[in-house]
Amino acid sequence: IPVEPFDLVIFGGTGDLARRKILPGLYRRLADGQMPPEARIIGAARSDLDDDGFRELVREALYEYQREEDLDSEQVETFLGLLFYVTVDAKGDAGWEDLKKLMNPDRVHAFYFSVAPSLFGPIAERLKDRGIADDEARIVVEKPFGHDLESAKALNASLAQHFNEKQIYRIDHYLGKETVQNLMAVRFGNMLFEPLWNSQYVDHIQITVAETVGVGGRGEYYDRSGAMRDMVQNHLLQLLCLIAMEPPSRYDPDAVRDEKLKVIRALDTVRPDDLVRGQYLAGPSGPSYLEDVGNPNSLTECFIAMRLAVSNWRWAGTPFYLRTGKRLKARTSEIAIVFKDAPHSIFDVPQGRHSNVLSIRLQPNEGMEMSVTIKEPGPGGMRLIDVPLDMSFAEALGEQASDIPDAYERLIMDVIRGNQTLFMRGDEVEAAWAWTDPVIADWESRGHVPSPYDQGSSGPDDALMLLHRDGRRWRDIR
Ligand code: NAD
Repeated sequence: IPVEPFDLVIFGGTGDLARRKILPGLYRRLADGQMPPEARIIGAARSDLDDDGFRELVREALYEYQREEDLDSEQVETFLGLLFYVTVDAKGDAGWEDLKKLMNPDRVHAFYFSVAPSLFGPIAERLKDRGIADDEARIVVEKPFGHDLESAKALNASLAQHFNEKQIYRIDHYLGKETVQNLMAVRFGNMLFEPLWNSQYVDHIQITVAETVGVGGRGEYYDRSGAMRDMVQNHLLQLLCLIAMEPPSRYDPDAVRDEKLKVIRALDTVRPDDLVRGQYLAGPSGPSYLEDVGNPNSLTECFIAMRLAVSNWRWAGTPFYLRTGKRLKARTSEIAIVFKDAPHSIFDVPQGRHSNVLSIRLQPNEGMEMSVTIKEPGPGGMRLIDVPLDMSFAEALGEQASDIPDAYERLIMDVIRGNQTLFMRGDEVEAAWAWTDPVIADWESRGHVPSPYDQGSSGPDDALMLLHRDGRRWRDIR
């Protein structure tokens, strides 16, 4: 179903994120018929370009970052025809009048801030003071949303001076993944899972976001941030919230976000014993973390694992284990709900542990898998084995699956439709920082030194111990 005609201004339209994700995503929405042909996309950035120059830059980006089978030369031309460009100075006067003249009245206006956070305030101020954005306009802001609670509050305050919360879309692309929304469909659309979704039946939960890449060219930036700020405070906590939250009364932005907020507020602080931080050593894929960031004394972590407690009635006693890191064994994001063992075995052969696991894969191959215990086929008596009941979206949905939009394109269409459900609310972001800050302050005050780990491994050995000592095991990173 096409969305209504819109003007989308992308501040930072010539930048890396716009070229890799935002513009190719918009192209796919046009090719798919969701973006109306009257829509317009206006690149606004510092480079001195005209419309044609911008179209050329976007054409190159499409051919570089778009899957070949999705490219159709006629559709590419139609898409490029919807593009315009203005040179603006986010902190000065240049370009703002031109932008104002370009905007079509009487349609949805969205402004995507794909620029450094230090420009959020100045852009918001100019959009409002110069009468470019009205009270219906929407703004989309990228991560990182703050470096700590104080800076996140300052960012929220600078946006709130000019826009109300209903206009602000804080993007976390993890929430735009098909499987993440399916997590809610599975929990709240079936009778099967929700009755078991609590500490009485769930032994523990694992959330893993593993990357094979190192810090790459972002070394200097990354070293000031680290895995806790870059991944846990936003993406992993958001996933945790969707698993742990109470059923909202409706699938409605505030109903869902109220429940997520309660989860963040129920998180206990992490005890030092429940936390492992690491840095990769030099190896086959490249130099060590310390060399990559050019700081031999860095104490920043590019791997982190922790055991978390959600202190409420539903989850008391069920730990959540989170881990994320770079240069690990495989690129994978997975949530695993590990159920308790059956309370009593009626079979007289020793059987070991057999717990059902619901695993939700965000990448690669989005899908879900439920392991169930069955009898091993053959004459060997009643021996139990675990087999997967697998639901790969690609297989189950056939052609429909290849049309699953990428997170960015889905989220941008949600902005145009005015649906904030999959975007973080200001108080959620602040609550997440309020939980993160003391944990970081604690390890900094202790001068904690990250443990080294091999490239291509599952992280430092201490991370394995985090589960071993509880009589559990991490799932394989694959
Ligand atoms: P980039 O450096 O590639 O691009 C920055 C853009 O901002 C350029 O278009 C530049 O012209 C514009 N710009 C800079 N100063 C300006 C000014 N004074 N006035 C007007 N325009 C100005 O950055 P990027 O990688 O595209 O990232 C943009 C934002 O998105 C950052 O906040 C970044 O943290 C965030 N982000 C990026 C990625 C990614 O994969 N690149 C992922 C997540 C979040």
